[in-house]
Amino acid sequence: MSHSLDRTHDPSLRSWVETANQKDTDFPIQNLPFGVFRERGKAENSRIGVAIGDRILDLKFCCQEGLLQELPTRLQEACKAPNLNPLMALGNWASSTLRARLSELLLSNGQQKTLGTNLLVPMVEAELLLPADIGDYTDFYASIFHATNVGKLFRPARPLLPNYKHLPIAYHGRASSIVPSGTSLKRPKGQRKDSGDSIPNFGPSQLLDYEVEVGFFIGVGNQLGQPIVIDRAEESIFGLCLVNDWSARDIQAWEYQPLGPFLGKSFGTTISPWVVTMEALAPFRCSAFSRPEGDPLPLDYLSSSLNSKLGGINLTVEVLLQSAQMREQGIEPFLLSRASFQEMYWTLAQMLVHHSCNGCNLRPGDLLASGTVSGAEEGSQGSLLEISQRGSKAIKLPTGETRTFLADADEVIIRGYCEREGFTRVGFGECRGIILPAR
Ligand code: MN
Repeated sequence: MSHSLDRTHDPSLRSWVETANQKDTDFPIQNLPFGVFRERGKAENSRIGVAIGDRILDLKFCCQEGLLQELPTRLQEACKAPNLNPLMALGNWASSTLRARLSELLLSNGQQKTLGTNLLVPMVEAELLLPADIGDYTDFYASIFHATNVGKLFRPARPLLPNYKHLPIAYHGRASSIVPSGTSLKRPKGQRKDSGDSIPNFGPSQLLDYEVEVGFFIGVGNQLGQPIVIDRAEESIFGLCLVNDWSARDIQAWEYQPLGPFLGKSFGTTISPWVVTMEALAPFRCSAFSRPEGDPLPLDYLSSSLNSKLGGINLTVEVLLQSAQMREQGIEPFLLSRASFQEMYWTLAQMLVHHSCNGCNLRPGDLLASGTVSGAEEGSQGSLLEISQRGSKAIKLPTGETRTFLADADEVIIRGYCEREGFTRVGFGECRGIILPAR
């Protein structure tokens, strides 16, 4: 919305990093997502990198080699930081300036001969860390299909609560337990109460689930008491990642009224390590979800013609599952769902504006997540709660195993990508996590 197309989006660009030119790579030269890494097995501080093909361009090293010396000093300083917060705090002019320079450096045009490959770290040799020091985490509920599917299971007569179409619903999540892709999580223990029981009991969750979501990192943010306005909202978004909002449905069901999710969610949230900038997503912008006839229009502060016209993102998300048995037998992960982010009832800008409309300040590195991305069709539901109809319908895996909720040693893999005729495909990489037994 706030970025126009320029030469960095040109689909004819090729990189001297050969793997970046492969058709199905997530990280072509048109993407250039930012992340934080450390070389595996080395005792060193984390540093910022950019994904290109199967390599990471080391920005600190680029600075040391003088390759970024024409950039403003504060931008060079941000490139040497141990996480993305200083770069995020500078605002999107900074990531945009950097993107233009990195595109030049990685471009296959003869100049690369002088660069050498020691600026690159193979991604397989790197430990990918959290991209930012995340101060606050808020999780929305922006898919009307998810809200309706879940609502139906609990309140068949009126699945959507009266506020749903008027404001983007959210709860304040826990930032301390956000982990990068590849981190295993223990099955949480907690209090549950089955409808047949007279008193609750304590133990490992029996109804462990995932939720596929899209996360967005705050860049420059806002001062306390100064709400963000709709047509400038995306200036405050640094970029997007994939999110798995792991959910213990039994713990959640017993605890959530009247104050909302708590321990059923706070045991862990996994995010993909690469942050795809809003600028890289510019070719994939689309209109916001069109509300069916009869739905209320959003109030003025949540509404603008720009938001309606370009507030959506044509981003596909997929969830796959691989059980321990599948891993042992070398069977590929099994596709559970595929959905489009275009179908969300609320746009990123609307979520951000609503979050700050009371004056609440958002800070660089804060993470907001969209809520489960589910579509209207079969096969597009972004949680096991929906797919298994609250445990009543089992999914059959290729090994013959069945699932209603997650078993120990199951791995959940989320992928995301944007495609459009005439442009280069841009991917998000993966958001993975294995469930370990409760201790
Ligand atoms: Mn969620």
